[in-house]
Amino acid sequence: MNARTELPPIPFIDLAAQRQRLKPAVDVAVTKVLDHAQFIMGPEVRAFETELAAFAGAKHAVTCASGTDALVLPLRAMGIGPGDAVICPSFTFCATAEVAVLVGATPIFVDVDPVTFNIDAKGIAGAVDVAKTAGLTPKAVIPVDLFGLAADHGAVAAAAETHGLKIIDDAAQGFGASHNNRRIGTFGHAASTSFFPAKPLGCYGDGGAVLTDDDNLADLMRSIRVHGHGSDKYDNVRIGLASRLDTIQAAILLEKLKIFPDEIEARNVVARRYADGLGDLIKVPTVPAGSTSVWAQYTIRLKPGARDAFAAALKADGIPTAIYYPIPLHKQTAYKHFPVGKGGVAVSEQLSAEVISLPMHPYLDEPTQARIIDSVRRALKA
Ligand SMILES: *Cc1c(COP(=O)(O)O)cnc(C)c1O
Repeated sequence: MNARTELPPIPFIDLAAQRQRLKPAVDVAVTKVLDHAQFIMGPEVRAFETELAAFAGAKHAVTCASGTDALVLPLRAMGIGPGDAVICPSFTFCATAEVAVLVGATPIFVDVDPVTFNIDAKGIAGAVDVAKTAGLTPKAVIPVDLFGLAADHGAVAAAAETHGLKIIDDAAQGFGASHNNRRIGTFGHAASTSFFPAKPLGCYGDGGAVLTDDDNLADLMRSIRVHGHGSDKYDNVRIGLASRLDTIQAAILLEKLKIFPDEIEARNVVARRYADGLGDLIKVPTVPAGSTSVWAQYTIRLKPGARDAFAAALKADGIPTAIYYPIPLHKQTAYKHFPVGKGGVAVSEQLSAEVISLPMHPYLDEPTQARIIDSVRRALKA
């Protein structure tokens, strides 16, 4: 054993550090909910929705049970279902396409940009063609703000307008980022985020929210999240879900939102240190002018075939890595029978073979990160 392997293992995401920072405030907030006992749709839920909408600059925030449901709610509210096509990137987490299938629609996969890893809007026209040829009605596109970086929302909006598509932004990873000085949450007809603990704005369980400026859409989604209620809970005007954010999670999120801007800044400091420490040796992620990132992941690209040895070398130094995503969706067992747009998905395939993510969280201190950078440099030169 050398000295390096005797150092403590580094967490990939350090939720414990944040817990320590927020312990007094969160413990008080949760105790308050335990005492008032309004566990479902208690006052903290409404308060959090108000704060979240204000943070993003959106008119409405409708919270729900998960980031996945946060995509189902707008799809359902828009009346998207069987016979409809929903266009989304292949290089993303499965939930982006899963929700199309859940509402009975057909996902059509398009490629991503090799630099930003986000949807390449040039592929949308070719996906619309494929949908029409298959007898489907193209209804929506779901861009993803992957790894925390805002997608090219201007290009997506232009393509969506040309083809009459609704836009639902999957901001599960990118909530908190901005594009042309506007925060994610204000692009598209609706934007969805997740409060899964590992996301940039996470809670202590499952949760999600949809942001929109559309009053009618917000009303429909509020109805659908609670069994399709009308004037009250026992007036059922449509088929809905049981998809509420727990009051306890809302209370936790109210505290987390207060420190979120500070955490975003800390994530950017970590990203800059990685770029400074590694940029001469590998392709480090870049942020296009006009966009910002909340660095949900710090993802680098290696030469094809180099990934396993690289991950093993870091692991030997006590440094975890993760692969987001090893198989593009169009090759997944559950999704491979769905169509791919005319432009193909070559970049998604290439990225799936080359990407690897390094530890990234707001509490990654400089000495620990120096250890990671040192290990990465040695592994790259090996
Ligand atoms: C995490 C994630 C989701 C789903 O969020 P859950 O809260 O886990 O349901 C959807 N899309 C993307 C891109 C994600 O990363």
